[in-house]
Amino acid sequence: LDEKGEASLDASFMSGKNLNAGAVAGVKKIKNPIIAAYSVMKNTPQVLLISEGADKFAKEQGLHMVDNSYFITQRRKAQLLKNKNLVQQKNKKDSSSSISKFGTVGCVALDKNGNLSAGTSTGGRSNKKWGRVGDVPIIGAGNYANNNTCAISATGWGEFFIRNVVAHDISALMEYKGLKISEASKIVINEKVAKLGGDGGVIGIDRNGNIAMEMNTNGMYRAHMNSKGDIVVKIYSDE
Ligand code: ASP
Repeated sequence: LDEKGEASLDASFMSGKNLNAGAVAGVKKIKNPIIAAYSVMKNTPQVLLISEGADKFAKEQGLHMVDNSYFITQRRKAQLLKNKNLVQQKNKKDSSSSISKFGTVGCVALDKNGNLSAGTSTGGRSNKKWGRVGDVPIIGAGNYANNNTCAISATGWGEFFIRNVVAHDISALMEYKGLKISEASKIVINEKVAKLGGDGGVIGIDRNGNIAMEMNTNGMYRAHMNSKGDIVVKIYSDE
C-alpha cells in the first residue's frame, strides 16, 4: 500500500526470443497485472502503459477488473501503519526507507525450444510515495530476458535496482564478458547493488538451464523446478 493507503501495482513480462516486452505501472483495478503486461507485449506496439491508461487498456482487453479494495488486506494495512510509525520515529523525510519489506513475485523460465522469459509483479514498497514506480515495470531493471544469455526477475529496494539496471547488467556481463549466470548475479547483487546501499535479490536462468538465486539479504522466498518436476524450495540465504 502507498502512503495514501491505496494499492498501486506494477508488472512486466519479457520474451527472450525476440526481446518483446510489455509492462504496466501504477495500476489500481487490474486483478492480475501480469496478464495486462503480457497483453501490452502481445497486442500493442507499446512497451509500458501507466495508471488510468493501463487500467482502461486492460478493461478493453476484457481482463478481470476489481475495485482497489480487493487488494487491501488487514496484513498490508498493519504493515503500512507500522511503517508510517517507524518513519515518524526515525523522522525520515523519505517515505521509501529500508524499513519496508519486499513483496514482489517473479518467475523465469526456459522452455524446451530454448526460449527464455521473465515475469515480475508487485505492489511495490509499503508506504511508498504516491505515484512512485519501482524497478518492476522497468525493462532491464526488475526484468529482462534474452535467449542469448538469461532471464532475470528481481526483488528488492527498487530504486537501487533501477540505478544499477540490474537485470540487464547481469545479461550484459554474460554477453560481453562471458561470465556464468551465477558469477554475473553475484557481482551485480553483492557488489554493485550492495555498494550503493541497496538490498534485494534476483532469480535467473540461462539458456542451458543453469539457475542463479542471488541475494544480499538474510532470505528470499524462492523455488525452482526442472522438467522432471523436481522441486527445491528455500527461504534463507545459507540454505
Ligand atoms: N522491487 C519492488 C519495488 O521496489 C519491491 C519488492 O521487491 O517487493 O517496487
